[in-house]
Amino acid sequence: MQDKTLAVQFGYEKQEHMGAMSVPIYQTTAYEFRDSEHAANLFELKELGNIYTRLMNPTTDIFEKRFCALEDGFGAVATASGTAAIFYTFANVAEAGDNILIAKQAYGGTLTLGAHTIKRFGIEARFFDIYNLDELESQIDDKTKVIFFETIPNPAIEVADIEKIVEIANKHNILLCVDNTVATPILCKPLNLGADIVVHSISKYCNGQGTAIGGIIVESKSATTKIKGNSRYAHFNEPDASYHGLVYTTLDMPIFTLRARLALLRDFGGAPSPFNSWLNIQGLETLPIRMEHISNSALEIAKFLEAHPKVKSVNYPGLESSKSYKNAQKYLKDGKASGLLSFVLDSKESAQKVAESTDIFSLVVNIGDSKSIITHPASTTHQQLSPEELDAAGVPAGLIRLSIGLEDTQDLIADLAQALKEA
Ligand SMILES: *Cc1c(COP(=O)(O)O)cnc(C)c1O
Repeated sequence: MQDKTLAVQFGYEKQEHMGAMSVPIYQTTAYEFRDSEHAANLFELKELGNIYTRLMNPTTDIFEKRFCALEDGFGAVATASGTAAIFYTFANVAEAGDNILIAKQAYGGTLTLGAHTIKRFGIEARFFDIYNLDELESQIDDKTKVIFFETIPNPAIEVADIEKIVEIANKHNILLCVDNTVATPILCKPLNLGADIVVHSISKYCNGQGTAIGGIIVESKSATTKIKGNSRYAHFNEPDASYHGLVYTTLDMPIFTLRARLALLRDFGGAPSPFNSWLNIQGLETLPIRMEHISNSALEIAKFLEAHPKVKSVNYPGLESSKSYKNAQKYLKDGKASGLLSFVLDSKESAQKVAESTDIFSLVVNIGDSKSIITHPASTTHQQLSPEELDAAGVPAGLIRLSIGLEDTQDLIADLAQALKEA
């Protein structure tokens, strides 16, 4: 089946749910067991079924199955946020004394999680530039547990050479995890390009209307292949004392996400609410047509900005002038590059004036909403940095970032044209 069909239909059997056309919301905390043997079987994994919503929920289950199908995955576990999905991915493989490799071009929260928060757990994050893969390979050692990067990094807006990173991960038999939030499975399916794990912030394009926070981890069959018999992942290959001696690698199941559910949702508890899973299911239904519209619109807007006399430069991987253009054509469906773009004006003051002068674009720090968004990083997310640090981070003081929504393209261009008069 194609994405447009999967996004609307997959993983839901109406006749198992009173014939309801819309997926029901199972707004429940717990589930009745048939008898004590049934309860025992569920806890022992002899039978699969519902126990408690921190671990699983029928509405969330449909969301997980549908999303897993869109990513062409083997198994999935949904989490309360994208941040929880990323933390659980790290916590699922690394312990004190281990290290993980994270792309420098990553979401700010991922960078602080790596540089500060997991450091206090004794896990070292090492950073690499996606345009300098020697920096990646030279930092790998016996204690490296995962390599992590974003298909279209937010806020850098580039496209990594995915196949080259896959090659390095496979050479060293290390799990490769890709944050596919900005591309979404509609524009890129990293598992089919050789990644082992994909994570998402569902809060952005997949939800699509800015109505719920959510995250998901999806694994490919290759995750199990890499884990089995690999001393890097001894804890998957040895009895788990916290789960009556279960050895994950003896199961014929998606063991990476199974452990994230059984051990990490159990003990850290960042489970999604059934209502948010339902909102995210609604979002998935329209994801394929939204990503197409948003990508087309963003390209047209990028071309308008590139031709504008007050604009010094435009960064959008769909533009031929972008250093990511070749990778975008190679790795993104039909070269469509999602809805994030940035452009640079001559000064911080001009950028602030433009960001304050739009009528349709809202001044918000989010991406992937149906409503278009404008941000000025130097006065918000990157406020603490000096002008030199801003340049080094790739966000000069005159830079403006746009997240293109579902409004009419010509209306958005007209709005930017009138705001640019203020610059
Ligand atoms: C927003 C975002 C996250 C964090 O997700 P939340 O759902 O906000 O926790 C992670 N990665 C990327 C690329 C993001 O844009």
